Amino acid sequence: MKFDTVIGLEIHAELSTKTKVFCTCSAEFGGAPNTHICPVCTGQPGALPIINRAAVEYAIRAGLAFGCEINRYSRFDRKNYFYPDLPKAYQISQLDLPLCINGKLELSTGNVVRINRIHLEEDAGKLVHDDYHGQSWADYNRCSVPLIEIVTEPDIKSAEEAAEVVSKIGLYLKYLGVCDAKMQEGSIRADVNISLKPAGSEKLGDRAELKNMNSMRSIIRAIEYEVERQAEIIEDGGVVKQETRRFDDAMGTTSPMRTKENANDYRYFPEPDVLAVTFTEEDIENTRKKIPLLPHERVEKYVNEYKLTEEDARVITLEKYLSDFYDETVAVYPQYKSVANLFLTEIMRRVKDSEAEEIPFSAEAFAKVVEMADKNTVNRNDAKSIIRIMFEEGGDPMDIAKANNFIVTVDTGAIAEFVDKLLAEKADLVEDYHNGKTNVFGFFMGQATRALQGKATPKAIKEYLEQALNK
Ligand code: ADP
Ligand code: MG
Ligand code: ZN
Repeated sequence: MKFDTVIGLEIHAELSTKTKVFCTCSAEFGGAPNTHICPVCTGQPGALPIINRAAVEYAIRAGLAFGCEINRYSRFDRKNYFYPDLPKAYQISQLDLPLCINGKLELSTGNVVRINRIHLEEDAGKLVHDDYHGQSWADYNRCSVPLIEIVTEPDIKSAEEAAEVVSKIGLYLKYLGVCDAKMQEGSIRADVNISLKPAGSEKLGDRAELKNMNSMRSIIRAIEYEVERQAEIIEDGGVVKQETRRFDDAMGTTSPMRTKENANDYRYFPEPDVLAVTFTEEDIENTRKKIPLLPHERVEKYVNEYKLTEEDARVITLEKYLSDFYDETVAVYPQYKSVANLFLTEIMRRVKDSEAEEIPFSAEAFAKVVEMADKNTVNRNDAKSIIRIMFEEGGDPMDIAKANNFIVTVDTGAIAEFVDKLLAEKADLVEDYHNGKTNVFGFFMGQATRALQGKATPKAIKEYLEQALNK
C-alpha cells in the first residue's frame, strides 16, 4: 500500500523576557535550583498573578511575523492536571480565545503550512533525578517562564518538512528577538502529531503524538520510525491507537506513554485571576513597528539592492547575528560584493559550528580588511591571513598587516626596470598595440603583476604601463 504522511506540530518556544509571565521572578535560564521562585509561581494560597506586558507583546510580534490575525479580545484559561514539577496543579494557558489565529509559513518545497493559533502560556518546572541516591528533586525555576505555543494545521508532508518548520520558526523568533531558539537548552521543543492515510485520500488517519522533541535529528528519526510502524499496523489490517508516545533516542524507536487526552480531560475553565487582554489598532501597529527585517526580506534586499546571488544572500541570513554583522560592515564600507566574498569564505567558515554566536572583532575592523584588500594595500591572500589572526589573537588589521610585512609597498624603480625590459623584448607586440591591437595590454599587465608581486600594486603597474606604451 502507498500512504501519505500527515504531520501537525505544536511548537513550544520560551520567550526571552527578563521576568516570568505572571510574577517578577527572573526568567533567565539556569540558576541554582529554586532561586528564581516566589509565592506566585509556586502557587501559594492567596498569591495572585499579574500578566507580563512584554510577554504579550512578544507573542503578538510572532503572530504578526507569521501573518496571523490578532484577536482584539483574548483570554486565559486554567488547564488542570497534576505533575510533580507543577506545584499549582494547573497551568495558565489559552483555550478558545488565543492571542493569534490563522497564520501561515511557506516552505522551500513550496508547501504552505497553515498556522492554526499562537497562544501564550506558562512553563512547568523540571525534575532532577538522582539515580545514585535513588531520589528525585523538583526545581521550580522554570515554573511560569512565558511560552508561546504555535500550533500548525496537519499540512506537513514529510520528516524533512517538519524539521524545516521547526528550524524556520526558531530562526524567525530569533530575528524577532523574542526567543533564543536554543533547542539544546529546551527553549524550543515540538510535539509531533503524525498519521498516515491512503495516498491521495482526503480523510485523515488516526494519529500518534510524540511529546517534547528537542532536537532536529530526533524529530526526523522519530517521524521516520513512526511512518514505518503505522504503515505496518495498517497493512496488517489494524488500527493506529490515538496515543501519546515517547521517542527513545538511543534505540531510535517510539513507545506508548499514555492514551491521548482530550481537552475536556483537563477541565479547562476561564482563569479567574488573570484579566483578559484587549488591543486597539494602535497597539498592534506599534508592535508591528518593532519587527525588524525578517530573513526572507533580507534575502530580497541583498539580491535586489546589493546584487548578491540568492544562494549567498540565503547563507548570510541563516543566522541573525551573521546577517547583522554583514549589515554593519556594509554600513561603513558599502562594497556589498567584496564584503560578501570575504564574509562568506573567511568568517562564515570559522563560526559555522560555534554556539557562542559572536564574531570576536568589530564590523568596522572587518570593513577595514576588506577595504585594504580592495585597494591592494595588502594582497588578497594576506587579507585572509589578517582575518585568521584577528580570530586567533585579535588585534587591529593595520597593525597586523605591518607586523607581518603584508603591506604592499610600491617600488617604482622595480616597476620601471621590469616594464622597460619587457617592452624592449616584445617590441613586436608593442607595435601591434600601436596598430590598434589594444588587447595586448592585458598580456603586459599579467606579466608585470606576476613578476612584481609584493613590490607593486596593479594600479601602479597599470599607470606606468600606460604611460610607457603611449610615449
Ligand atoms: P489536541 O488538542 O488533542 O492535541 P488538536 O486538534 O489541537 O488536538 O491538534 C493538535 C495537533 O495535531 C495540531 O498540530 C494538528 O495539526 C495535529 N493533528 C490533528 N489531527 C491530525 C492527524 N490526523 N494527523 C496528524 N496530525 C494531526
Ligand atoms: Mg496536543
Ligand atoms: Zn515568581
